[in-house]
Amino acid sequence: MARLRGTFDPAPIMTAIASNLQAVRRDMEYFARAAQRRPEEIALLAVSKTFAAAAVREAFQAGQRAFGESYVREALDKIAALRDLDPEWHFIGPIQSNKTRAIAENFAWAHGVDRLKIAERLSEQRPRNLPPLNVCIQVNVSGEDSKSGVAPDETEGLAQSVARLPQLRLRGLMAVPAPADGLSAQRKPFAQLRELAMRLKADGLALDTLSMGMSGDLEAAIREGATMVRVGTAIFGGRQKQ
Ligand SMILES: *Cc1c(COP(=O)(O)O)cnc(C)c1O
Repeated sequence: MARLRGTFDPAPIMTAIASNLQAVRRDMEYFARAAQRRPEEIALLAVSKTFAAAAVREAFQAGQRAFGESYVREALDKIAALRDLDPEWHFIGPIQSNKTRAIAENFAWAHGVDRLKIAERLSEQRPRNLPPLNVCIQVNVSGEDSKSGVAPDETEGLAQSVARLPQLRLRGLMAVPAPADGLSAQRKPFAQLRELAMRLKADGLALDTLSMGMSGDLEAAIREGATMVRVGTAIFGGRQKQ
């Protein structure tokens, strides 16, 4: 049978980033259902550190809105290059005192708060015409080899103080556990973070965020209650060493 030229509607062409995003969203949905959770409870933060503004633009055009960056100077260039869009920028790296102003002025969220002094500076420097900066307290859960993060038994004291700062809104806890093999080993530190958050909530803190899970431990994090996963490699590809 003859087919009229021009009536055939090809499938839209998908970029690699768009199809990676779709695969990650599908995985998240699958893991959520396996854990008897609603997929809508889990937000996807696309970690764009080391990738160019063009890659962020591509992900934005594929419907992704929240992006995570770890290096302030690099992030500021990207934020400037993408002023025509309105992505939600999350700072997920360790926070040095001399970078608090740039973070307070340019980001919607900061996930790596682990000292009161840093939280106080972020609150003081948050421009009054912006909504409060959303923050997560980074906890150094068991087995972690990094120096970032507050010790689990000091988390509540820090959380109570951070919750009182006027220009911050304490949303929850964040962790970056050391890489581990196998689902049950990966779940342990996430379970620890979830239990810690539950204790803080029982003590009256209004937390709604567990920022945990990356490309390699997404399932474990979702099983343990992650509400925001931070995924870089599975969306943008492998990174060069910095
Ligand atoms: C780089 C980074 C991620 C993303 O890690 P991938 O393994 O690439 O998914 C998540 N969270 C933090 C804090 C990071 O620094």
